[in-house]
Amino acid sequence: MNNGIFHIPAPVNEPVLGYGPGSPERTALKKEIERLRATQLDIPLVIGGKEVRTGKTAPIRRPDAHGEVLGVYHLAGEAEARMAIEAALAAKAEWAALPWEERAAVFLRAAELISVRHRALMDASTMLCQSKTAHQAEIDAVCEVTDFLRFNPLYMEQIYAQQPENTKGEWNRSAYRPLEGFVYAVTPFNFTSIASNLPSAPAMMGNTVVWKPASNAVYSNYMLMKIYMEAGLPAGVINFLPGSGGLISNAVLSSPDFAGFHFTGSTEVFRSLWKQIASNLERYRVYPRIVGETGGKDFILIDPSADLHSTVAGVLRGAFEYQGQKCSAASRLYIPASRAKEFTEALAEEISAIPMGEITDFRNFMGAVIDETAFDTIRGYIERAKAGGHARIVAGGTCDKTRGWFVEPTLILTEDPHSESMVNEIFGPVLTAYVYDDRDMEAAYRLVDSTSPYGLTGAIMATDRQRINRALIALQNAAGNLYINDKPTGAVVGRQPFGGARASGTNDKAGSYLNLLRWVSAVAIKESFAPPSSWRYPFMTGND
Ligand code: NAD
Repeated sequence: MNNGIFHIPAPVNEPVLGYGPGSPERTALKKEIERLRATQLDIPLVIGGKEVRTGKTAPIRRPDAHGEVLGVYHLAGEAEARMAIEAALAAKAEWAALPWEERAAVFLRAAELISVRHRALMDASTMLCQSKTAHQAEIDAVCEVTDFLRFNPLYMEQIYAQQPENTKGEWNRSAYRPLEGFVYAVTPFNFTSIASNLPSAPAMMGNTVVWKPASNAVYSNYMLMKIYMEAGLPAGVINFLPGSGGLISNAVLSSPDFAGFHFTGSTEVFRSLWKQIASNLERYRVYPRIVGETGGKDFILIDPSADLHSTVAGVLRGAFEYQGQKCSAASRLYIPASRAKEFTEALAEEISAIPMGEITDFRNFMGAVIDETAFDTIRGYIERAKAGGHARIVAGGTCDKTRGWFVEPTLILTEDPHSESMVNEIFGPVLTAYVYDDRDMEAAYRLVDSTSPYGLTGAIMATDRQRINRALIALQNAAGNLYINDKPTGAVVGRQPFGGARASGTNDKAGSYLNLLRWVSAVAIKESFAPPSSWRYPFMTGND
């Protein structure tokens, strides 16, 4: 039934609950954590709406208590990837033909289910599986997930409303078809919200999707998959395929029906998959859309005019929340020489006060890093900085993997602005600071702009308006998301559309209509109401 011009309910950002002592949400969350810990899950693939168990399994461990296993998940191989492609193609025609508001309703219902009935489940599973505190899980697995699910339908409506001009006797229409084929979504471990958005955004626009979640996030991502189904997502629209990225990608990227790639993860993996797509180009029926949000080496530039206390708070939250495992996390810090002592001392004092431990203890600000590989990589950076001679550890620096993958929040002060920890993405709780000569701000801006190949997020801490303006101009290409007097993390759907350029991605701005535009292929339809009845033009009637 579509005899009406329907409008999506005006979305508002989901309120962030506090989880303070004695609050009902805290009681419910603690109960849910214990329920999940007492249960062992056997997580299947979901292909064409059916659970598939391959018998090849891997355990799901808590990063902050790696002896504790939450269950196992089944791994897909190339055969299951081909099954998922078939299921996606089989579901396509009916799903694409469904009126857009019916497709929107599925995701709006999913948002409501997460906001109310499954709030504690989404928070608890993300906490246990990805080692997030209650607050970090809440802003990700509940608030950002539901924001994407409620704002994207509005952007869909706005895109469909874009229509061309008409003149007398004709009607021009734009229809926004889904891509011809299926979309491949590959998601990272660090945000349940990204795991939700990458398959659901193309699906909302009428596409069907093969979704490969990150191995370290299968647990919370499976909860999402079940909620989509509970919300009424038809079988085959999104197919859930945990397993080896390499194996699954080989099958997916060699299919002639591959039409779009929605990726978030490391720059290295994105580049290698883009090359694989390029080498298969002749096989495909369409030029695939490629959207990738990748790594970052995000900066905070402290101007000499910065306020001490709010800057220190912004640096701590920006660098160490979720153990620095946000693509937007601050990992290089520029301190003006004229205020170096005061900032370095304040940061060292505050960082050493950060509580870290199991996320089930709500007093902790930080949990563990995601796995042993990440732990070893991060420790390597800290050890090399200690041994290098050009740097000293101002705070933290200790790593302990006895019970969980714990890395202390660490501040390295370096004399070399191009040292490896100033340039490379570490993806852990390691912040490297460099003291710059603030008598030459233009040189400082050039240094911030050119130090790393990335361009994701950055923050300018300053109170002087002229200097803020100069920094904004000088650093306009250094980040896709720039913050003034705020931490460089925590972008909110609808308010700070997210994405970076340079080596950080295609900058297609998740959380805005720009991302959704990539999942449609417009067709222009012209209808003539009074078509000419002769092929002859008036100028041909004589030759005088
Ligand atoms: P990752 O690149 O290791 O993995 C991302 C996904 O790719 C996972 O699903 C993984 O299984 C898959 N994958 C890995 N190797 C593959 C291969 N050879 N073929 C096919 N798939 C493969 O990244 P991660 O560790 O999950 O996430 C951290 C990275 O993601 C960081 O670099 C971070 O900056 C980035 N990230 C970026 C954004 C952003 O918006 N720019 C957001 C979140 C994370």
